Amino acid sequence: MIIQFEKDINPDQKEKIIGSVKNLKYKPTEVKTQKGDYLIGIGKKDFDIRNIGSMQGIKDVHIVSDDYKLVSRKWKVKPTEINLGDGVKIQEGGFQIMAGPCSIEGEQQIRKTIAHLKDNGIQIMRGGVYKPRSSPYAFRGLGIDGLKLWHELAKEAGMKIITEVMQVSQIAEMDPYVDIYQIGARNTQNYNLLDELGKNTDKPVMIKRDISGTIDELLSSAEYIFSGGNERLLLCERGIRTYEKATRNTMDLNAIPVLKEKTHLPIIADPSHGIGIRQHVEAIALASIMAGADGVIYETHEKPEEAFSDGQQTLDFSESNRLISRLKKTFELRSSF
Ligand code: PEP
Ligand code: MN
Repeated sequence: MIIQFEKDINPDQKEKIIGSVKNLKYKPTEVKTQKGDYLIGIGKKDFDIRNIGSMQGIKDVHIVSDDYKLVSRKWKVKPTEINLGDGVKIQEGGFQIMAGPCSIEGEQQIRKTIAHLKDNGIQIMRGGVYKPRSSPYAFRGLGIDGLKLWHELAKEAGMKIITEVMQVSQIAEMDPYVDIYQIGARNTQNYNLLDELGKNTDKPVMIKRDISGTIDELLSSAEYIFSGGNERLLLCERGIRTYEKATRNTMDLNAIPVLKEKTHLPIIADPSHGIGIRQHVEAIALASIMAGADGVIYETHEKPEEAFSDGQQTLDFSESNRLISRLKKTFELRSSF
C-alpha cells in the first residue's frame, strides 16, 4: 500500500497512521521525496482501504500489488514530467532526443558536437567522462576535469548534460556539473550507488537496463532511488545479452510497451548500444519511437572512425542529421494515431 501524506500532517496524526498500518501487520517505511511524503506499507492481508483512507493527515491511499510500489503505474495516473529547467523537459508521452559521443575526448570535440546538436534543436548532450570498459587498457574517460570543461562549454550554449556516474564517491564532485546522471548497465544493481542517488542528489537519474536484467529488476532498481527520496527518474532500454552474436546486444523493443504499462516513469531507448551496428542504429531508433519510447539517446561523433570508444556504433553528423529529422517525422506519425 502507498499512503500519501498531506503536506501539513502533524506528528500525532502520523503516529496514529503508522500504528494502524502496523495493526494490519504491514511493515511501514516512511519516504520523503522532492515531490511528496509517503508511507509504504508492505504486507499481505486484505483490508478495507476506507478505514485507513479516512484518517486525518492522509491525502490518498493506493493498493499496489507490484513488488515495486512508487514507480508503479498502479497509483499514478498523471504523466510524469522531468523538468531540467530553461524550458527543457522530458515527459511521459512526449519525445526528447539526447545525443553525443560515447566518450568526452576534448574541447574541440565538445564544441563541434554542441554546434551539431544546436543546429538540430537538440537540448541534451550525452557523453561519458567515467567509462566502464571491458578492458582495463581501453580509454576510461577524462574524469572530473573533462566534465568541468564540458559543463563550461555546455552552459555557454544552453545545452544540458547527461553523463554516467560509476561510484558513490563521484557523486559529490560531479553534482554541480551534471543535469542528468546516467547509471550504466553494469551498475543497475549496484544498490549502494542507487541508495546514494536517492538520498544525496536532487538531479534526475536515468537508469539503464542491466545487461542481463529483467524488466522487473530494472523497476526495482528505480524503486531504490525513488524510495531513497529522488523521484526524478528515467528508465532506459539499451539491449540485453542473449545467445545472438550477430549484434552487440539484443534491443528488447518488447520492453518499451511493457514498461509503459508497468510504470509512470518516462522510457528512453538507446539504439546505439541496443544493436551496436552503426548502419542499423536508425532502424532501431525509429522502431523504438513506434514502440512508445518517450525519448531516444544515441551516439554521434564528427569522425566515428576516430572516436575513443564505441566508434562502430556511432553516427557521423550527417547520419545524425538524417536520424533527427526522421525521428521527428516518426514521432508526428505516432502522435497522429
Ligand atoms: C554508454 O552509454 O556509453 C554506456 C557505457 O552504456 P551502457 O551502460 O548501456 O553499456
Ligand atoms: Mn558507448
